Amino acid sequence: MRTIQTQEIEKVVADLFLQANYNIEPEIEEAVAAAAKSETSEVGRFVLEQLSENYKIAREEKLAICQDTGLAVVFVDIGEDVHIKGNLQKAIDAGIRKAYEEGYLRKSVVKDPLFDRTNTGDNTPAVVYTRFVPGDKVEILASAKGFGCENMSRTKMLIPSDGLEGVIDFILETVKIAGPNTCPPSVVGVGVGGTIDYAAMLSKRALMRPLADEHPDSNYRQLEKDLLEKINELGIGPGGFGGKMTSLGVKIEAYPTHIASIPVCVTMCCHASRHARAVL
Ligand code: SF4
Repeated sequence: MRTIQTQEIEKVVADLFLQANYNIEPEIEEAVAAAAKSETSEVGRFVLEQLSENYKIAREEKLAICQDTGLAVVFVDIGEDVHIKGNLQKAIDAGIRKAYEEGYLRKSVVKDPLFDRTNTGDNTPAVVYTRFVPGDKVEILASAKGFGCENMSRTKMLIPSDGLEGVIDFILETVKIAGPNTCPPSVVGVGVGGTIDYAAMLSKRALMRPLADEHPDSNYRQLEKDLLEKINELGIGPGGFGGKMTSLGVKIEAYPTHIASIPVCVTMCCHASRHARAVL
């Protein structure tokens, strides 16, 4: 049994959030640059060029890609042969505290959603999802999740007779309603199956997949492609100013579900799709 000290986790989490907030993932940067070349709308092209410039400045000057530095969402895959010595949530929060303090990143978390909306002052606590996987490693996926786009995310309990068409309609409707509020071009994460809460978690996990990653199942692979095509026909465009580059990708994660239901959740992510990963 391998032992990992929580101090190691704290350090890695701090590095990941600094990295995610300053350095857009290369594949997002490449996709935005490519979109600028194929965008037909002049304003849309301008928006995409500005985004590329913004990514470059953020990286070179170690500045946040966006003023909304996000709520920290962390997925931790824990190997079955690993013993984490200490409190995992505390270690993750300590890493976030360090990153947001030392990196001059905006603190965006309030103590209570309803009765005490004072800022916690350190961007904690994080939302943490854990699962056990084979092996003796710990994989940490960090996401600085902006909330302009999060606010446009939706979930719905469809029934089997709604079928695939119902799911497609719901996803397209969600992107349409979101319009410019997701700071497009967006990445669309879809969770389908499980329970209402599990579908929501899956939609977040879907967003952690690399943009170029192809779904291993051919049906879902095709569905992701078809949805992207349909979304980019909606005409929302970069920044919502019209055009064809509304989304850079659609990622779907599925799970078995009850015979009576098709839970579906769409988590919208903006162009500032800030993720970083590390394996300990
Ligand atoms: S939705 Fe994304 S790009 Fe827009 S303000 Fe929020 S974090 Fe920034």
